[in-house]
Amino acid sequence: MLEIKNLHAGVKGKTILNGLDLKVNPGELHAVMGRNGSGKSTLANIITGRDNYEITSGEVKFNGLDLEELAPEDRALEGIFMSFQYPVVIPGVNNTYFLRAALNAQLKHHGKKEINAADFMRLIREKLKLVNMDEKYLSRAVNDGFSGGEKKRNEILQMLTLEPKLSILDETDSGLDIDALKIVAKGVNNFRNASRSFIAITHYQRLLEYMEPDFIHILINGKIVKSGDLSLAQEIEKKGYSWLES
Ligand code: ADP
Ligand code: MG
Repeated sequence: MLEIKNLHAGVKGKTILNGLDLKVNPGELHAVMGRNGSGKSTLANIITGRDNYEITSGEVKFNGLDLEELAPEDRALEGIFMSFQYPVVIPGVNNTYFLRAALNAQLKHHGKKEINAADFMRLIREKLKLVNMDEKYLSRAVNDGFSGGEKKRNEILQMLTLEPKLSILDETDSGLDIDALKIVAKGVNNFRNASRSFIAITHYQRLLEYMEPDFIHILINGKIVKSGDLSLAQEIEKKGYSWLES
């Protein structure tokens, strides 16, 4: 589904990713771990096409498409989703309106009929239950005045509504208390299936205890220096990252 080869990339002329390789198949959950500043969010920003983030060499392919050639919104329409490390507040834009507009853009892109307001309310109520969110969050502006944990749950609500093929979760666990963490993990776990893929970026092993990652990758200075299974995350928890630095 996603194939990254020898990626060198950065932001505003600063190189951050230095020869990164990553391959994600349908159905897999990959965890990317690394210290602050190792380039985890940059990787997510490059895949999703954030402004000012540029590929200098190498390639990023999604279902055979060269992502560099696609605008961020077209990547989203193709089924790439990102839950932000720092979710954006959009004052004045109603959460329900935002979610329905996003879903309808997807439906339209795939030649399907748009969903009307009544059907959408039925759909979104079911999704809200999956992340233990109250209906009152629907009538508020997107993330406006939401607590850290509420914002992260709202990001997962977006994921469950849009049903992306590839979901990138950038530190969705940070700022969550243990109950919220379990809710988020459960939301992701129930959403997993053989055709959906995930890249979960995290500092801590904690989140991974509740999700079953297929692979763990350690990012140091913009490069994946080691990959393994859950035992690698446990090793990092004990020993830190310094033993992997050259
Ligand atoms: P991580 O998510 O692993 O903590 P980031 O990808 O956010 O790391 O950042 C990697 C490095 O790139 C850091 O040194 C950071 O300061 C730098 N960086 C990220 N975004 C920008 C930006 N917009 N302008 C300048 N430097 C940036
Ligand atoms: Mg980050």
